[in-house]
Amino acid sequence: MGKNIQAIRGMKDILPKEAEFWHYLESTLFDVAKSYGYSEIRFPILESTELFSRAIGEVTDIVEKEMYTFLDRNGDSLTLRPEGTASCVRAGIEHGLLFNQIQRFFYFGPMFRHERPQKGRYRQFHQFGVEAFGLSGPDIDAEVLAMSAQFWQRLGIADKVSLEINTLGDAKTRDKYRELLRDYFRANLAQLDQDSLHRLEFNPLRILDSKNPALAALIKGAPKIIDCLDGEPKAHFLELCDILDNLKIKYQVNPCLVRGLDYYCLTVFEWVTSELGAQGAVCAGGHYDGLVAELGGKSTPAIGFAMGIERLAELAQSKATALTKPKIYLALLGKNATKFGFALAENLRSDLPNFCFITNCGGGALSAQLKRADKSEAVLAIIIGDSELAKNQATVKYMRKGVSDTQVNFAELVTYLKNFGANYA
Ligand code: ATP
Ligand code: MG
Repeated sequence: MGKNIQAIRGMKDILPKEAEFWHYLESTLFDVAKSYGYSEIRFPILESTELFSRAIGEVTDIVEKEMYTFLDRNGDSLTLRPEGTASCVRAGIEHGLLFNQIQRFFYFGPMFRHERPQKGRYRQFHQFGVEAFGLSGPDIDAEVLAMSAQFWQRLGIADKVSLEINTLGDAKTRDKYRELLRDYFRANLAQLDQDSLHRLEFNPLRILDSKNPALAALIKGAPKIIDCLDGEPKAHFLELCDILDNLKIKYQVNPCLVRGLDYYCLTVFEWVTSELGAQGAVCAGGHYDGLVAELGGKSTPAIGFAMGIERLAELAQSKATALTKPKIYLALLGKNATKFGFALAENLRSDLPNFCFITNCGGGALSAQLKRADKSEAVLAIIIGDSELAKNQATVKYMRKGVSDTQVNFAELVTYLKNFGANYA
């Protein structure tokens, strides 16, 4: 026998029960996004490596350490997408969707990052994200935040997440702030770790994003970007706060929130939870007004966020009930009944799309077939054998309730099941 081959570390299979729940999550997210006028966009899983290094920034965790990059058979450097925004912008530019237009998109799919696998952190994970182009906010900022709040409402987890916001101002704000930060961290050089020393040189803002607990106190004492803010970026931030207050969306201003990617400006935010241990960020995003131009398009303001579906699934877990269609098992005894039953099942599936019909395959005695029916979690078994065929009636057996078997004419089965479905909850 050959040796077992296992899934790649940090890449999870999603087994049928879980997949069913994911389906519910996805359709809820899609429904809500569509109700805000967002439309789905799909882009490839592989892109040129340059797309991500340019969009996300060379001195970021993702580009420095986490990308799955390889040369294909032509010698081109390709990367499995670590996030969706860069691809979305690339696709938008390529198809002429962005310049001078307002666009609202959402996407869903797997992302790949070579991180240390642990609970809530995988090497293949999934994100649902939205991106809005052509609007500079703060109204659009409020819209995407209101939409995310709506997700939590629909999924019944509004009490488990809280919103943190910050602003990165404009380029001028960040230039000023970078200098303040450099001075501050240079004065405390001995306390910095290797990563932060490196960031100090290239992008001192990213030190604030460090997950090293030894740096927490130093980071907490650092100058705050809000204090460098004035003019339009300040008005933008205050107006966003005002709209959020009016919407009664609670938030906390977190001055250390800078996000790990280079493309952000103005509003940045994260929805966090304390229920998932160390991996507390469920959904994160912000404005990225410079990215479209950085990737070769005409300058276009943009904002978006992405949420981790594995973390979301973990949070919303307890809501995973009653998502399935009621299952009906057709127990078919003998060749004639099997032939008849297969044709009947086709009709039932067309007439009753809200049910699931499982036809018995592989023959077997009635007792064996009912065992399979039980294992499939069917609520009813429709038994058809020679005597049922002779009488033109099916025997209907309740699998979950103490109701005795009943005979139903084949011609009346659809009506019978419709009534059964109406009372089934
Ligand atoms: P973290 O701080 O947890 O590393 P991040 O800032 O790298 O997150 P983003 O790039 O903003 O995350 O991605 C948005 C969301 O995607 C995160 O809030 C999280 O829910 C999810 N996510 C990111 N990386 C992973 C991963 N390796 N496994 C599972 N989910 C992830
Ligand atoms: Mg990360």
